[in-house]
Amino acid sequence: MDFKKVVFSSWAGKVVDNRGLEAEVCAPVEELNLPLECDPARVKAFMGWDGFLVVDEKANVVDMAYAYAREVQKLACGECAVGRIGISVIVETLGRLLKGEGREGDIELLQWVGKGMKDNAKCVLGQTAPVPVLDSIEYYREAYLDLIKNKKAISAPAYHVKVTAPCMEACPAHLDIPGYIELIRNQRQDASLELIRQGVCLPGTLGRVCTAPCEEVCKRNDIDGPLAIRALKRHAADWEMEVGQIPPVSIFGEGGEKVSVVGAGPAGLAAGYNLALAGYRVTIFEELSVAGGMAAVGIPAYRLPKAVLDREVDIIRGAGVEIRFNTRVGRDITIADLWKNGYKAIFVAVGAHKGRAMGVEGEDRGYEGFVDGVKFLRDVNLGKRVVPVGRVVVVGGGDVAVDCARSCLRLGFKDVNILYRRSRVEMPAREGEIEGAIEEGVKISYLVAPTGILTEGTGLVGLECVKMELGEPDASGRRSPVPVEGSEFVVNADMVIAAIGQEADLSCLAGEDKVKISRYGTVDADPETCQSSEKGIFSAGDCVTGPAILIEAVAAGNRAARSIDRYLRKGEAVSSAGASRAGQSAALSAQREKESTISRAPQPVGCLPVAGRIPGFPEVEVGLTREAAQEEAKRCLRCYRVMLWQSDE
Ligand SMILES: Cc1cc2nc3c(=O)[nH]c(=O)nc-3n(C[C@H](O)[C@H](O)[C@H](O)COP(=O)(O)OP(=O)(O)OC[C@H]3O[C@@H](n4cnc5c(N)ncnc54)[C@H](O)[C@@H]3O)c2cc1C
Repeated sequence: MDFKKVVFSSWAGKVVDNRGLEAEVCAPVEELNLPLECDPARVKAFMGWDGFLVVDEKANVVDMAYAYAREVQKLACGECAVGRIGISVIVETLGRLLKGEGREGDIELLQWVGKGMKDNAKCVLGQTAPVPVLDSIEYYREAYLDLIKNKKAISAPAYHVKVTAPCMEACPAHLDIPGYIELIRNQRQDASLELIRQGVCLPGTLGRVCTAPCEEVCKRNDIDGPLAIRALKRHAADWEMEVGQIPPVSIFGEGGEKVSVVGAGPAGLAAGYNLALAGYRVTIFEELSVAGGMAAVGIPAYRLPKAVLDREVDIIRGAGVEIRFNTRVGRDITIADLWKNGYKAIFVAVGAHKGRAMGVEGEDRGYEGFVDGVKFLRDVNLGKRVVPVGRVVVVGGGDVAVDCARSCLRLGFKDVNILYRRSRVEMPAREGEIEGAIEEGVKISYLVAPTGILTEGTGLVGLECVKMELGEPDASGRRSPVPVEGSEFVVNADMVIAAIGQEADLSCLAGEDKVKISRYGTVDADPETCQSSEKGIFSAGDCVTGPAILIEAVAAGNRAARSIDRYLRKGEAVSSAGASRAGQSAALSAQREKESTISRAPQPVGCLPVAGRIPGFPEVEVGLTREAAQEEAKRCLRCYRVMLWQSDE
């Protein structure tokens, strides 16, 4: 925003008043970093949970306060009378003022009600709702007095409105998290799931394995720990399975054209589902015999039972998405064939399935007992028989390494070891997963790196290793491992699983020279529009970002669908400003929520006892009961941030 032109700003308790000053001498206003979905330079006036801003001096702050209060009223939950009645009084009073029916005492009434809400409303929305109204009375009192004295009605301009929350901003799919949680609180699991499905087509899957960036920013962290947002999502999805309900499909668009998707992973499924709902005829070409990508053949069943994923894939197919299994694009059919067959857009979502090499002598010679981590998990997930050996060593420190190790235990391996070249602090696998592995019996050796493979004949018998120490931080910000001279030693092993990362196999694009590949070996596609450098070819998910997380792949698939729809209707894939701005939520999270009256203890998300987990792959995490889910939902502070703005766009 061109802050030099700001006439007035009252934000987060800081006031900048440039009224009556020349633009050149206006005091600068620090950047607010608001997640606006427009060009900030075109904003004429803005109002939000922490104050307001006037750029065009003709903006009417009373009208803006009225529009703001009405938006808040739509979200009022009715849990506390202060919030419910307070916001109605504010809306009614401001409405009267603007119709030219203001009365003496209206300003005092607004201040009294506003202060009461600020101090006593139960949720954050109720507490913050009156802030801009009170600020506008304090600093633009004459505008209120003028309306009361001269009894003139004013016409309302159009506003852009956005409702968000710190959790919603952190979620790559921007799910309405307080909304679906409130519906669970009211025992409306069906409506909750409907709301979740508007943003993610794999709710039960994500309800189990999402890394939940939303929970990291949950404002309840400041009080007694984050809400179990992921487990609540699972609760809504499990409810539908339990009652055996199949969600109705409502096709809302009239797309018509044929669109092909390469890869039935989360990104491909999300794009396919949304395009089908928009009326397109979608065919997904999938190399494997199952859909779900890494959710199907990477993530082990003890974290994500296959029945959950399969059911969600069936729902997507039920929306009209055709999946052609066992069809590898680049081998069984080419991109050129797809164009010839009348597909008007192609979405490439092939993920990152190629295991990265450890970089040690001999690993590429096919020794018996040397296995790539993603291939190992794929075999296990596809039901291939794996015969346990005496000692298995998994190399790596990420989730894939831990998934391999925990799967080995479930397959009957007795001596399972992980070697990681940094210390526990730097280990990228999630803490809960590491703890789970240790309590089940996996041994982890830190600060060890393999340097070579030891073999006898065609088989592997161990690894040559070296001890490491931590040096200076590298590009990732983690301290880099440095070999300790003279510390070489041997680790005996009957099997070694290399799980040190994956990369994309883009052979399906062979011959498609116009599709630019980045220096990281990923498809070079626009992160907003998912458009590649070749018209009509779109791409997203792990094959664009490198190995990432499910919710990012699903959100990218959603974006790709919107973009392909726009491309097919209008001939170009225009960026929708702010569609993927996860991370720009500094302003949203800056405010510290005051101690809430909603102080309930977190509901623990239970796990199977260790003795009940092995052998086999029973699901480890136990979902929330109906009662626990309702109690947990009641902990939500409803940190909705309502904002509206006037712009010349
Ligand atoms: C072991 C493991 C555990 C993980 N655990 C988690 C977790 O707990 N939480 C989380 O959020 N994320 C996790 N992830 C990451 C997550 O699974 C991925 O980020 C996500 O699946 C990426 O989705 P995608 O659609 O981009 O690609 P993928 O899921 O990789 O799907 C790509 C699909 O394309 C198919 N394909 C590839 N090439 C072709 C071709 N030429 N023709 C036709 N089809 C093709 C593949 O068979 C696959 O089905 C994990 C990943 C792994 C490997």
